[in-house]
Amino acid sequence: MQLTRLINILNGTYRVRRNVRTIASISSLSETHQMLHKTCRDFAEAELKPIAAKVDREHLYPAEQIKKMGALGLMAVSVPENIGGTGLDYLAYAIATEEISRGCASAGVIMSVNNSLYLGPLEKFGNQRQKEEFITRFTDGTRVGCFALSEPGNGSDAGAASTTANLEGNKYRINGTKCWITNGYEAEATVVFATTDKSKKHKGISALIIPKPIDGLNLGKKEDKLGIRGSSTCSLIFEDCLIPKENLLGEPGMGFKIAMITLDSGRIGIASQALGIAQASLDCAIEYASKRIAFGSSILKLQAIQQKIADMALQLESARLLTWRAAVLKDEGKPFTKEAAMAKLAASETATFCAHQCIQVLGGMGYVADMPAERYYRDARITEIYEGTSEIQRLVIAGNLVKEYGLN
Ligand SMILES: Cc1cc2nc3c(=O)[nH]c(=O)nc-3n(C[C@H](O)[C@H](O)[C@H](O)COP(=O)(O)OP(=O)(O)OC[C@H]3O[C@@H](n4cnc5c(N)ncnc54)[C@H](O)[C@@H]3O)c2cc1C
Repeated sequence: MQLTRLINILNGTYRVRRNVRTIASISSLSETHQMLHKTCRDFAEAELKPIAAKVDREHLYPAEQIKKMGALGLMAVSVPENIGGTGLDYLAYAIATEEISRGCASAGVIMSVNNSLYLGPLEKFGNQRQKEEFITRFTDGTRVGCFALSEPGNGSDAGAASTTANLEGNKYRINGTKCWITNGYEAEATVVFATTDKSKKHKGISALIIPKPIDGLNLGKKEDKLGIRGSSTCSLIFEDCLIPKENLLGEPGMGFKIAMITLDSGRIGIASQALGIAQASLDCAIEYASKRIAFGSSILKLQAIQQKIADMALQLESARLLTWRAAVLKDEGKPFTKEAAMAKLAASETATFCAHQCIQVLGGMGYVADMPAERYYRDARITEIYEGTSEIQRLVIAGNLVKEYGLN
């Protein structure tokens, strides 16, 4: 039903006047993916690009735009239609996230966390009651969810979680602090990872769904970040927070596995966010270079500038192919852990590279907030850190290669 909504919208509201460039490889996608791509691009041009600087400057959560994205079906792209989602595949989700992030990287991460980190594990591991309570109301952009794995004492080493969930009668008592939680302020529910059996180390971690607000859960200060400033990031502080035992997601001790499976898909979302930032940087560099005159002609005619633009486009297209490959493998039900790590690693380093080059092409204008280049640079940097740093992606890739070579 929401796809029909997308098509209707494509025929009306978000048609942009300017002739937007279409990526060559888009033309080989299915009609549905092409329509989704155009709808998201037009929406981002009309609704996100104009507000992205203000969102960044004032640390504003773009609530109205997120609701509109929900109405377009973008807050639950691959969730089945019978539980309120849009029912598209992961390739569609990757395409949509890139286009939204091209307009506003903060909106991109808010969308990505709701889709892959919050709704993803609920859809895969939740029972019917959990889906009805915690998915359906979180698909239309009026509510968002979050995913709480990291702690002050461990980020990359997620298996060392020290937050505890002790079963007392028919309730879990949660104690501990989760940090760096995206959507932490706005979220009306969170998937939390906590130790239910310390003796089993990472195999004693369980996943729980916790509605917000709730007694015993306080929020830390909103982090003052380098980039993606329109998305909130904060700690979730649990002090004797009591949760019905029915809110356990999956089986006791399955939490670490749920987190790792969820992050495989989440990395496709972050890779797509990074592609959007990289594409915005390339667009900005080409547009500016075509107008800037130096030594009697546009700087776009200078080979030094053309080399930069060629390198940006090369890295961008390569990273996009890796990202789409990972999404297609997931859609085909094939293993994609290594491919998602490769996509995230390549796309995040591409975003930083392209934003860096964009500033260089703009010269002094790249360094000030009158132009978006410096924001792209700040927004790009986080994609190399969250949902597994670049170092961790390399470990995942190498670990999978070792297995493929039969050397483990
Ligand atoms: C803005 C923002 C939003 C975030 N959103 C969320 C969220 O919604 N939910 C959530 O749970 N978390 C979230 N995070 C946390 C994020 O996933 C972690 O910051 C990240 O995984 C790194 O963990 P850390 O910060 O503890 O760094 P550490 O794990 O302390 O790592 C520090 C450095 O050591 C390196 N390192 C660590 N171990 C190894 C190793 N074995 N081999 C090689 N190098 C290694 C790392 O790559 C890094 O360079 C967010 C973080 C930020 C900044």
